[in-house]
Amino acid sequence: VSPSSPIKATLFPGDGIGPEIAESVKKVLTTADVSIDWDEHFVGDKVDPRTQSFLTWESLESVRRNGVGLKGPMATPIGKGHRSLNLTLRKELGLYANVRPCYSLPGYKTRYDDVDLVTIRENTEGEYSGLEHQVVRGVVESLKIITRQASLRVAEYAFHYAKTHGRQRVSAIHKANIMRKTDGLFLKCCREVAEKYPEITYEEVIIDNCCMMLVKNPALFDVLVMPNLYGDIISDLCAGLVGGLGLTPSCNIGEGGICLAEAVHGSAPDIAGKNMANPTALLLSAVMMLRHLKLNDKADQIHGAIIKTIADGKYRTADLGGSSSTTDFTKAICDNL
Ligand code: NAD
Repeated sequence: VSPSSPIKATLFPGDGIGPEIAESVKKVLTTADVSIDWDEHFVGDKVDPRTQSFLTWESLESVRRNGVGLKGPMATPIGKGHRSLNLTLRKELGLYANVRPCYSLPGYKTRYDDVDLVTIRENTEGEYSGLEHQVVRGVVESLKIITRQASLRVAEYAFHYAKTHGRQRVSAIHKANIMRKTDGLFLKCCREVAEKYPEITYEEVIIDNCCMMLVKNPALFDVLVMPNLYGDIISDLCAGLVGGLGLTPSCNIGEGGICLAEAVHGSAPDIAGKNMANPTALLLSAVMMLRHLKLNDKADQIHGAIIKTIADGKYRTADLGGSSSTTDFTKAICDNL
């Protein structure tokens, strides 16, 4: 893809602060001369019977067609007869891996200044398979599904990611000492894939020990790969290590090479419409999307302007201890481009 030809990408501005931070992304990308033809889709107010959710079939088709997209936060409306929006996207687009880089931002002081790790979470099965039922009154059952196919797929992605991003080590996070069959199979698959990548160091870390090590010395980790539930929890823990949800990007990788980048935070209803939201997480997600499109120069340029703006400290949003509005912070990034 050349930086001058317009790229088609799907944009879900999402709910709450979503449209405000999506506007910020559009402004920064335009200023950086990245020509994107956004195909914008909003969450509907009626359930689409074809998707059984408030996302329309046309929205999903748009991501499939473009192969790339950016998603703001979505608040799933309470009610019956529909699926969660995020679950619909994961299932329908086969988004099997969630990739979250977590690194200390220069100039923004947190407890650690040497965090540089990536969590890769299996996104389609495990404890989130949605198979729960009551056996008898007072006894319920939830099924954790682990398959060889999904485990190999995410392990393969993790090692490939490590190799192509100059990373040295992959740690598989598990509880196979207790969940021998499920996590045991996950580990077996990771070991199989590890053999194909002798240049990458492979290790296995039990989840409870991993949590302790992460809060004590996060620099011990490089790339972490894990089943769904562990990934959900560990990736938020890692976001906390580098300054919180307003700063952390992510990217979902799907079948056929689909890339749907998204901020990890929610719709922040408490500050929605107040021009207070920090657009950094969605901006850095857009940077991940640009890297996926191999627009590395543009990605570096935008990344640098975001880092510089935060490090300068003059313009920061309230979540980072400043008093700038979303629009002023965005303008400062554009000025730094
Ligand atoms: P949240 O992430 O929306 O908010 C948690 C806290 O963080 C709030 O105080 C909020 O103001 C703050 N915050 C979040 N993002 C921020 C940003 N960019 N800038 C400044 N402050 C920010 O979590 P929640 O309140 O638990 O969830 C609200 C809604 O979002 C719910 O409907 C939930 O289902 C949805 N949600 C969606 C996603 C997603 O689409 N991926 C993820 C999480 C939650």
